[in-house]
Amino acid sequence: MIFQSKLVLFLGILVLLVSCKSIKGLSENLPIKETIVNDTAFVNLKEYSTDFVYDMKYASSDNFLKSKVYDCAECFLRLKTVKALIEANKIFIKKGYKIKLFDCYRPLDIQKKMWKIVPNPIYVANPSKGSIHNRGGAVDITLVDKNGKELDMGTTFDFFGIEASHNYPNFSSKIKRNRKLLRKVMMKQNFNSFDSEWWHYNLKSALNDKVSNAKWKCD
Ligand SMILES: [Zn+2]
Repeated sequence: MIFQSKLVLFLGILVLLVSCKSIKGLSENLPIKETIVNDTAFVNLKEYSTDFVYDMKYASSDNFLKSKVYDCAECFLRLKTVKALIEANKIFIKKGYKIKLFDCYRPLDIQKKMWKIVPNPIYVANPSKGSIHNRGGAVDITLVDKNGKELDMGTTFDFFGIEASHNYPNFSSKIKRNRKLLRKVMMKQNFNSFDSEWWHYNLKSALNDKVSNAKWKCD
């Protein structure tokens, strides 16, 4: 009996050693590069933070195109844009607000559709050059309070008129303050504002990234 249990123990240790070796071998062969996501890779914002509010306008017909042009509402961006946006949102959360998203990465085909309807470079980027949305470096956003209510920014999203401009002077000080708050924090996180659209922000380093027409998958 003693001999048998020693044999079992010996075999047990042997199995353990062999399995340890194989686990070690596997980890040595792991493609390390693939586990690190490149800063310019396209990622889904919701996989990096649950602190955002979404109202993806082009995944519904509630937009100036009056048609649903995205199959589903997802916010894809380059990882570096996601990182900067999360840092901005942290600052807003401390102040009692959250970022609400209207649009993120936009495939080039959608840009072409928009240009056909509004061929005005003040409001829609010419698809021949591609917009920062097509590069995964732009977001259309506003702020919501603790009850999820949007802060008054003076106009709705995608309002094509001078009232949407940061420089429009005839708004109340409250509206001006709201816009200023949004711009101040976003600029601190390396985003540029766009004069004719209070909701639009470009990550400064996104201009060098390639335009994309990749579509995201919907369940
Ligand atoms: Zn935009």
